[in-house]
Order: sequence, then structure tokens, then C-alpha cells
Amino acid sequence: MNEGRTHSMPCDDIPYEIDFKPIEEKIKASRRILIQGPDGLKPFMPSIVGCLKGLNSSAKVYIDAASLYGACDLHLEVINSVNPDLIIHLGHNEYPRSLGYQKDLDKILSKVAFIPAYSKARINETVVSKLSNELAQQGFKKVSLTAVIQHANLIEQVKKMLEHQGFGVYVPRPAYKEMFIGQVLGCEYSAITLAEKLVDAHIVIAGGLFHVLGASLSASKPVYKLDPYRQEYMDMHPLRERYLKKRLYRVYKAMDSRTYGLIVGSKTGQSRKWLENQFIRLLQRHGKSYIIYVADQLNTQVLGNIDTSNIDAFIVTSCPRLPIDDLEDYPKPVLTPGEAIMAITGKIDRYIFPW
Ligand code: SF4
Repeated sequence: MNEGRTHSMPCDDIPYEIDFKPIEEKIKASRRILIQGPDGLKPFMPSIVGCLKGLNSSAKVYIDAASLYGACDLHLEVINSVNPDLIIHLGHNEYPRSLGYQKDLDKILSKVAFIPAYSKARINETVVSKLSNELAQQGFKKVSLTAVIQHANLIEQVKKMLEHQGFGVYVPRPAYKEMFIGQVLGCEYSAITLAEKLVDAHIVIAGGLFHVLGASLSASKPVYKLDPYRQEYMDMHPLRERYLKKRLYRVYKAMDSRTYGLIVGSKTGQSRKWLENQFIRLLQRHGKSYIIYVADQLNTQVLGNIDTSNIDAFIVTSCPRLPIDDLEDYPKPVLTPGEAIMAITGKIDRYIFPW
């Protein structure tokens, strides 16, 4: 596919809107291009490569085959081995630098173009009407409206529909300048938490449960998912309660821990020195011992390898979704930063997510 003649397949064949115009000149000037993207975009990579080749037929285009979950993971080893002039990181915008990027990444970041891939799925009026009825029945009048990046193109349309139904709709700005207005990430919900005082409920446009579960764990007001793929809405309260019960049990179990395994991340955007230092101070202040581990990948096997009898609980500062989504069944408590703060300080009146 990369070499010789290519069949130039237009990018509009795929169910995503991808706009290469802002980086057209860079594409034309590059000899080696590396494309990165989440697994959901992988089936469309041949079409995307065809589209790039239409702009620069002599460029050598590489597709990063490894799984990629966010802009927090730029796969440095792949970048170093390909040595591209241009890295096109599809489907995500830049990860907030102050949340975790290592300081020496500026040179790499200057070569990265973050290009969103907006889903072509739309929301129909019927599902917004049904959601509006539910909100009205609950007595909600003002709502925040946010979206994951692939559905950020629906925010304006849904806002108008809800306003037409008589709701006050607030599209909140996240705390980080790298993010779009109204955007949430799996680990970043400041748009929602900053809007809490202004609204009665939150609506998040997203497919799947990953982002909306995080939103409901971050928010204290009701969260509703609006799903463009399934054309349905969902009240997140029952799922939130189920998860909270499980997570609070882990927090309780960790409260008597004397020694913590502090697992810090080494992925490009998951190296959170601020959080690591905050925990070292907190653990020292509360007379706890700790052992620091660095991990690129973290799963039950890695955890099993580092686990010893003198470690009572683990704190993960890399991706706060790992303890909740992947390491839930580990025999010892594996905590997110927010949960670890609760366990160490003993303040459990408010669930903290993610940090
Ligand atoms: S939730 Fe995890 S994988 Fe997703 S952006 Fe945040 S740190 Fe990265």
C-alpha cells in the first residue's frame, strides 16, 4: 500500500470527517509520514493513506499498528524507529500538557499534527425529544452539554434542539486550553465539574460507556448519555451507583494499608510528576511507606509480577481508568489517585475522580 502506485481512495468513503487542509503544506513537504490512530480508525487506514497519497504521492507513509487509547500515548519507540518528518495523530487533540507530558517532548510535539476524526453519525430529533421529556419530568431546566471529540461536531445541533424544547443549555469550557469547548476525555471532566453550580444535569454525547461512566463518577449532578450510534439516551445513575459501591469497597479495604505500591506511568502524557510528588508528600505526612514503580503498560500480569507480601495496596498515577476498567478484580486494592487520597486521608464523604 505504501510503495509504488496507490489507488487514491477518497477520504469521504469513510464514516468519519477528517480534514487535512490545515496541514496540506506539511503533508506535501514530508518524505516520511507516520499515521497514528485509535483502533476504531484502523479499518479505514488504507483509505486515509490513499487520501494522503493524493496530496503527496512520493511520501512514504507508515501506519502505527499498535493500539492507541489517547493522545497521552504517542508511542515514542515507533516514532524513533520511523523517524518521520510528520506524525499525523488522528482522532484526538493534544493531551493537556500540564496534566502529564514529559518536559523534553517539545521537539517531538512540533512534528505532531493532531487531526480530529468526527463521526458522521447524527442525532435524530426523536431521541432528543424523549430525553427532553425525561429531563422535564425530573424538573431539570438547565443542562450542560459536552461531547467526546468524535462527536464534538454535534454539539451545536443538539444544543439548538434542546433549546427548542425550552432548556437552558450551557456548553462549558474545560480547564485546559488544548481541549475544545465542551470536550471531555476519559480522565478529564473539568468542563462538567466547572459547570456543576450552573446546571441541574449534564448531557454527554458519546457512544459506549467509557466516557459517560467517567463523567458520572466526576459529577455530583445527574448525567445522561446521548448516543448517536444507538439513537438512544441513558440515565447513568444506576451504573454510577453500581461502580461507586465497588470502588468505595476498594477504598475501605485500602484504608489500613501501611505500604503502598505507587505506580507511575512512562507513556508520553502519563508521566505525572506533580501527582507523584503530591503522593509522596501525602504518604509521608500520614506515616505510610511506599515503593515507586514505573510502568508503560499495566495489567494484571504486570501487577502480579511486582506484587509482594509487604505491599498492601497500589496507587496508579498513569491512566486513572486502569484501576476501574481493567484492574477491578485484582485481589489487593488498586486505586485511582482520587481514591488513594480518600483512603490515605480517611475522608470518604465525597468520591473523588480522577484526581
Ligand atoms: S483516560 Fe487514560 S488513555 Fe484516555 S486520555 Fe486519559 S490517560 Fe490517556
